[in-house]
Amino acid sequence: MKRFSAQAYVDGVRGGDRAILARAITLIESEQPAHAELAQEVLEALLPDTGGAHRVGISGVPGAGKSTFIDALGTMLTARGHRVAVLAVDPTSSVSGGSILGDKTRMSSLSIDPNAFIRPSPTSGTLGGVARKTRETILLCEAAGFDVVLVETVGVGQSETIVAGMVDFFVVLLIAGAGDELQGIKRGILEVADLLAINKADGDNRARAMRAQASYQSALRLMRGDAVPPVVTCSALEKTGLSELWATVVESRAELQASGAFQRKRQSQQVRWMWDMIENGLRRALRGDPELSELIAQLEADVGDGRATPSAAAMQVLRRFAERASEALTRG
Ligand code: GDP
Repeated sequence: MKRFSAQAYVDGVRGGDRAILARAITLIESEQPAHAELAQEVLEALLPDTGGAHRVGISGVPGAGKSTFIDALGTMLTARGHRVAVLAVDPTSSVSGGSILGDKTRMSSLSIDPNAFIRPSPTSGTLGGVARKTRETILLCEAAGFDVVLVETVGVGQSETIVAGMVDFFVVLLIAGAGDELQGIKRGILEVADLLAINKADGDNRARAMRAQASYQSALRLMRGDAVPPVVTCSALEKTGLSELWATVVESRAELQASGAFQRKRQSQQVRWMWDMIENGLRRALRGDPELSELIAQLEADVGDGRATPSAAAMQVLRRFAERASEALTRG
């Protein structure tokens, strides 16, 4: 990878240069320690230019219509003068090479729109690593002047919780099923949703979509009591319901900003992010230390065979870890 100076990245990103933005993202995605240092320098310099975008997560099972929806919504927003970045968190990407955003043709209008920027999911690293890269990519896109950042994810595993933790507003796309609407939908995703959209409310499917809307509304009332998110219908194909949906996103932000809840949410996300980084760093340090690895392997065997309790083994690891860390510190 050809490297620029930190200043060249900063100037290029600030100037909205898409080629340099793409390279800056590649830099923060790199696992090499030398790149990490440069990436942090670039991010730090750009930090005052970040935070301005609507950060919106969009989740849904494969086939729910996420790419069609993002293409239609994004195009509507660029026509209104917004600049739209589309990112993805795909927990399957490091295994399979990616099931979402694998190729840009999935968003045929947005991919040729000069006011849009599409970036596929990072294809390496743990889900925690992918989350870090995506969060930092959001910041880079904001510094490059994108005022809407859409983060797409498939609703599997932990990805929706992770994405919900990095956006201001989380949209779950659903489609009307034949029978029980709630079958196959994970509770977790409904708990983090700020809005449910029943997509494909068009043609013969319209009536079914409306029925699904009603049953989700009552299910959510049972599940979430007072804090029931709106349930809307839309058609990504016919581009209906999108304008109303976006109006809800904008209104929700205005309300949260007026009450101070918006700032509090962003602040707690920042602190959560810091803790994620601490926890990831500790885990790496634990696993990367050969002496500790040996001790851990031994204790895992002991715990598995019932020769040691998990608590005692954990204490032993933590104690040895603290000793190793203070040895490293006194060595300077
Ligand atoms: P994704 O896997 O969630 O990204 O879903 P896609 O956007 O690829 O859509 C899956 C299929 O559903 C495609 O054949 C789309 O054309 C179709 N589709 C998406 N949105 C709509 C819609 O609003 N109405 C109808 N009728 N079909 C749609």
